[in-house]
Amino acid sequence: MSQVKKAMAFLCTLLLSGVLAIVPNSSAGAIFGSICESATECISLGNNKYHSVQTDGSFGSNNTYDVPNMWYAVRDRLQYSFTDQTNVQAYFDQSDPYPDVRVADYDWGNTNWLGATYCPSNNTGTGGNHPDRWCRGQLIKFNAYYYWVNTVMQDWTVRHHVACHELGHTLGLRHNYYVGADGTISCMHTLLDARLLRSGEIGELNAHYP
Ligand SMILES: [Zn+2]
Repeated sequence: MSQVKKAMAFLCTLLLSGVLAIVPNSSAGAIFGSICESATECISLGNNKYHSVQTDGSFGSNNTYDVPNMWYAVRDRLQYSFTDQTNVQAYFDQSDPYPDVRVADYDWGNTNWLGATYCPSNNTGTGGNHPDRWCRGQLIKFNAYYYWVNTVMQDWTVRHHVACHELGHTLGLRHNYYVGADGTISCMHTLLDARLLRSGEIGELNAHYP
C-alpha cells in the first residue's frame, strides 16, 4: 500500500481509485490565493501571520472515530512546515477564543477524501475579496475511514503530507504540481509523498504574511 502513489483531486479530495501521473515541470496556474469552486469547497487565506489551531475533543486519540497520531502530525507540520519554513507563526492553542483553524477527525465513511478544508458557516469572521478572501475559524476534517477501513492513513508520510496539505490550504495555498529535477514535490501536490513546502510557496506566504 505504501508504495502506491495516492492522488488527491482538486481541493483536497482523495481519489483512491486513481493513480495520478506526475505532471511535468510546469506550474498549473497560481499556487496562492483564495478560490471557491463550490459552496462548500473554498480556499481562504488566514487574516494574519498568527495561525492558531484548535483540536476538537478527542482529536487523534486511539479511538475508531479518530486518526491515531494525527495530533502529532498536525503539531509537527505546524512547526516544521510553516513556523520554521515561513514567516507564518503556526501553533496549537486550545485557549484561543477565536482560533484560525479547528481540526476534527471522525469516520465520515468512504468519501474519497482523506482531508478537507473549508470556511464553515459558523466561522468567526471573513473579509477581503478574491483572491485575498480570508476566513477565521476554518475547519479541517481528517477522515478516519482511511485509517481504519482503507488503511492509507496508517502510513506516517501520508498523515504528515495530508496535515501539511490541509494546513497549507488554510493559509491560501492551492495545489502545486511542480516536480523538482530530483523528483521532489511539495506537500501541496496531490501525491501523498511530501511534508514540506517548496520555495515558490514559501515566497508567496512570506509576501502575504510579512
Ligand atoms: Zn488539496
